[in-house]
Amino acid sequence: MQEKGTISIHTENIFPIIKKFLYSDHEIFLRELVSNAVDATQKLKRLASLGEYKGELGDLTVEVSFDKDKKTITVSDKGIGMTADEIKKYINQIAFSGATEFIEKYKDKGDDQQIIGHFGLGFYSAFMVAKEVEIITLSHQEGAEPARWVCDGNTEFEITKAEKDSRGTTIILHIADDSEEFLEEQRIQQILDKYSKFLPIPIKFGTKEKSEEDGEDKDGKKKYKTVKVDNIINNTEPIWTKSPSDLKDEDYLAFYKELYPFSEDPLFWIHLNVDYPFNLTGILYFPKLKKDFEVQRNQIQLYSRQVFITDEVKNIVPDFLQLLHGVIDSPDIPLNVSRSYLQADGNVKKINGYITKKVADKLGELFKKDRSSYESKWSDIGVFVKYGMISEEKFEEKAKDFTLLKNLEDKFFTVEEYKAKVEATQTNKDKHTVFLYATDVDKQHGYIETAKKRNYDVLILDGPIDSHFIGHIEQKNESITLKRVDSDVIDKLIDKDEKKESVLSDKEKEAVTEAFKKAINDDKNTVSVEPMATDDMPVTVTLPEFLRRMKDMQAQGGGGGMMMFGDMPLNLSVAINANHAYTKKIVETETEEEKVKLAKQAYDWALLSQGMLTGKDLTDFINRSVDIASN
Ligand code: ADP
Repeated sequence: MQEKGTISIHTENIFPIIKKFLYSDHEIFLRELVSNAVDATQKLKRLASLGEYKGELGDLTVEVSFDKDKKTITVSDKGIGMTADEIKKYINQIAFSGATEFIEKYKDKGDDQQIIGHFGLGFYSAFMVAKEVEIITLSHQEGAEPARWVCDGNTEFEITKAEKDSRGTTIILHIADDSEEFLEEQRIQQILDKYSKFLPIPIKFGTKEKSEEDGEDKDGKKKYKTVKVDNIINNTEPIWTKSPSDLKDEDYLAFYKELYPFSEDPLFWIHLNVDYPFNLTGILYFPKLKKDFEVQRNQIQLYSRQVFITDEVKNIVPDFLQLLHGVIDSPDIPLNVSRSYLQADGNVKKINGYITKKVADKLGELFKKDRSSYESKWSDIGVFVKYGMISEEKFEEKAKDFTLLKNLEDKFFTVEEYKAKVEATQTNKDKHTVFLYATDVDKQHGYIETAKKRNYDVLILDGPIDSHFIGHIEQKNESITLKRVDSDVIDKLIDKDEKKESVLSDKEKEAVTEAFKKAINDDKNTVSVEPMATDDMPVTVTLPEFLRRMKDMQAQGGGGGMMMFGDMPLNLSVAINANHAYTKKIVETETEEEKVKLAKQAYDWALLSQGMLTGKDLTDFINRSVDIASN
């Protein structure tokens, strides 16, 4: 029997497309062939379990091999195989999906997602790397004849009788000259590791050496010999396919190590498992994020029925969740023929929503169950939670109950708890509760001390997205305002409209202002004399909160409209303490020159405490101080 024919017209223009455009990554041919081999094997197992295949299943290992001299790569399985008619149908008529028919036949027997073939063009991806492809196959059906199909990449094919006495399919690729890179052991191993590491049927690729006990020597010591064993490249039962009740913490940690051999242990994890309204399993790990959260992306791997698809999960997983690690496996994630491109559709949205909810629930549960342990992990998960809160409305609804603020005493509060804590002391005349915060405990030390003197509490908000987080809290809570401790003099930060008496007359104030204006010699800064506590600093320089936020945004490249601020120099507010002894000293000083000198000195102290006194100004200040001290 020999038959020649033409692959159905649909394909006429498809080969060049396959070869050039369809797949950006030629290496996925191997994923497709190995996946087909695994599918065929699973189909056979399924038939056997339904009692429709009565033969021995035997060893079902799929084998991948290559021959550098003959320039071939071979994938063989012991699955259902194909008859000549089936080849014509499944392989020749591309438009005809083998899977559809199989499903039609077995759909009422449940579990059809498990056996549906993935995508119609899988097999033909072989022509991306092969100039000729051979199929030698023997169907599992009783009395079937082995068949051979050969095609050189044109639309013509040939089917002949073949020699094959064992059930299953062998696909032989005659590698094209421009694809010889795939005839390297390393390369094949690497592709298999990437795509087939967790396929459900064992995949053998070559052999490996293993040391084995070999009796004892004459002194009774154990002897070892090196033997060659099959090199099985995959773990057929990755833990995400198992039931959480069968797994221990060690299993999750070991699997994490398997995925990310060089990473520190994760903090905790979530085992995902849904079958309605879509199928999805997986494990998401919370890594120690610290502050470098940008570099951690692309760590979630997406699988479809244990076949690796991609680690760019952009469209499937909300942005903030991409900071997590782990695996998601779903046959319901819509993939086009090349699998790597994901199409946005309703299912993706649902999956998105589901994962977000699961993650929020898990965090909520940890928070409730063991708050102190949750708090101890906050420095690692805080960035993640805040990011989610800002970017995902659905997450925010739940996250507000477990998003924490930390104060300088290392105590943690939810926004609500913190408001309750500081409300009594830190509410201003406009009925806003002012949350004071520092971004740098060392640099803002003086201001923090001043706040403490008033019995105010100070938060630490020094994370990479805290400037956005601050805006978010204010937006969600109208009665809360956040102010950095150094953004105004303390009594203006929390303005309670308590009039402090000034010991200076208006005339004296004017004289002091004059002296400072001369000393500062910069029109852009505003100078004012304010009644303050006698033990507050004589001079305070501050950068108003709103100006600093603009600057911060600009530095982060955000907010297009902010460009109008350009490189505007910082406009400082200089507040002089009318009630300080030093100010009195300036007033009482005789000569104008001496007044300015004293003013300059005090202004420099204030700059110094802001870390803003540098260069010549700093040198002048030191020289002046030495002078004063020596006289
Ligand atoms: P898909 O796997 O998405 O259906 P393919 O082009 O990869 O598309 O394969 C087409 C059909 O060819 C499969 O559905 C299956 O019926 C058949 N087939 C491919 N490879 C094998 C194999 N190794 N064993 C048995 N049948 C196979």
